[in-house]
Amino acid sequence: MIHRLILFVVLLIPVLASARPLSVFVSVLPQKTFVERIGGDHVEVQAMVRPGHNPHTYDPTPRQIRDLTKAVLYVRTGIPFEQVWMDRIRSANPDMQVLDARAGIDLRIIEHHEHKHEEEHQGHHHNEDHGHNAGSEGDVARDPHIWTSPPLVKRMTANIRDALIELDPPNSQDYTNNYHAFAAELDRLDSEIHAMLENVPTRKFMVFHPAWGYFADTYRLTQIPIENEGKEPGARALTALIRQAKGENVKVILVQPQFSQQSAEQVARAIDGRVVAIDPLSPDYVNNLRKVAQLIAEAASQ
Ligand code: ZN
Repeated sequence: MIHRLILFVVLLIPVLASARPLSVFVSVLPQKTFVERIGGDHVEVQAMVRPGHNPHTYDPTPRQIRDLTKAVLYVRTGIPFEQVWMDRIRSANPDMQVLDARAGIDLRIIEHHEHKHEEEHQGHHHNEDHGHNAGSEGDVARDPHIWTSPPLVKRMTANIRDALIELDPPNSQDYTNNYHAFAAELDRLDSEIHAMLENVPTRKFMVFHPAWGYFADTYRLTQIPIENEGKEPGARALTALIRQAKGENVKVILVQPQFSQQSAEQVARAIDGRVVAIDPLSPDYVNNLRKVAQLIAEAASQ
């Protein structure tokens, strides 16, 4: 009996050793959720932009750069800090695969965003006027917040599935099964949100930072950003925004913890609306999206 137990333990050791999870890095927290949903126990995921930090100005810590040497995959999404850091991230571990989550996705043009060029952001010490910039795509700033639309997340997770299968063929069946389960959940979420928002009379909502553009496009809504080039708007712009909000019957203004809420509160007071904090970077992806849809639907039927 004892012998059998020892044999069992001895046989188990190599299995455990080979089952070390793949180390994966992503840029923002929702992508961590997506990779975990596809990878399950086979992956160990770290988000570069830690909770509460601003992806526009984030600087990876020396420890994160060190941890990159163990990573086999980096999933990027085109957010501003990548334009400053991607070369150093790659050179920290040249063997690491880099998957661009934007592959196969038509990028929308972002509303009223800063049109800064990469050259202006060279070096370590970029300051807070660092917004979404155009990168190598010319003068038009593309919206990097692709994860706010469930159908786009479905496409993104198919890319993640393919990357994991390539890195780890023995577990390909798990990746395929996990993808099917998550894709079905995303489909349900998508129809649920369509049903919630299909007939709401007010199709515009206000946001401080324009992070909900793909969400808005998917459900035939329009986001009106308060932010001006990454900063609080001036007095004249604020007056115009208040007039617009009244004219469009906007009742809700979405803010996120990484940005200032001051001007959002000023607008809310003037229009008798309310400011609601909702974080587009929440790792609780499905519930968070459902919540934002509910908020917009409720505010629109007031
Ligand atoms: Zn952003």
